[in-house]
Amino acid sequence: MPEGPEIWRTTDSLNKALQDKTITDLYFAFDELKKYETKLKGEKVDKIEARGKAILTFFDNELVMYSHNQLYGKWMISPNGAQPDTNRSLRVAIHNEDQSAFLYSASQIEILQKEEISNHSYIEKLGPDVLHPDTTYDDIIAQYQSEDFQNRKLTTLLLDQGFVSGIGNYLRSEIMFYAKADPHHKLKEYSEQQKEALAEATIKLSRRSYETGGITNDPSIVEALKREKAKRSQYRHFVYKRTGNRCHKCGTVIEEEKTGGRKIYYCPNCQLDE
Ligand SMILES: [Zn+2]
Repeated sequence: MPEGPEIWRTTDSLNKALQDKTITDLYFAFDELKKYETKLKGEKVDKIEARGKAILTFFDNELVMYSHNQLYGKWMISPNGAQPDTNRSLRVAIHNEDQSAFLYSASQIEILQKEEISNHSYIEKLGPDVLHPDTTYDDIIAQYQSEDFQNRKLTTLLLDQGFVSGIGNYLRSEIMFYAKADPHHKLKEYSEQQKEALAEATIKLSRRSYETGGITNDPSIVEALKREKAKRSQYRHFVYKRTGNRCHKCGTVIEEEKTGGRKIYYCPNCQLDE
């Protein structure tokens, strides 16, 4: 399941292929969207942005395509109309003079008016998107301080897209490690200082992962491990999927635990309270 950093990287490549370019041809597989093929042909793509795990394609004429990939959806980009070699079922194709973008297997695709976006049933439930350019530290710390979430366990809250959107399973464990947070508490049990550390880690590691293509570990540790010929799986994260290996910071053996069906990973020495 892709997390915010992966989805925003997809929007980057879509923008590179489509932004500000005139649509020369367009294809929708779903019958109810067919009528938009002629409405959108000749228009330009204004921009493409993520909202949680959904992608919004803004067109010049105030229409917006909402698409959510669920588990299997995938965007592919190729030069001038050449259709990628794949067995997946094509749902949308957007062509311009130079490039084409193909959306495969996504099941949720809708065309909305721009003003309908904020009321969309999926989007209206989302918390601030951690990687949206307009999201600030103040937006994120406000979530950690909000009365609405104080009785929730931190481990489940971090996966709730209504709290902060864009965080998934690897960022969850990495954020708790970076903030030195014991993963066993409800939000109200963390001090103000710990909440600030969590808010900082939420932004910092999401942006870092977006910029590095999925690496959350400190750059200095990554460099040192690369010099020792470590594999990506060994240097990529602080704790995620590193059960039984030693903490990069203190050498203690990393542990895992199952909460709500999904595993968390932590360093007992760096994170657990006395
Ligand atoms: Zn440690």
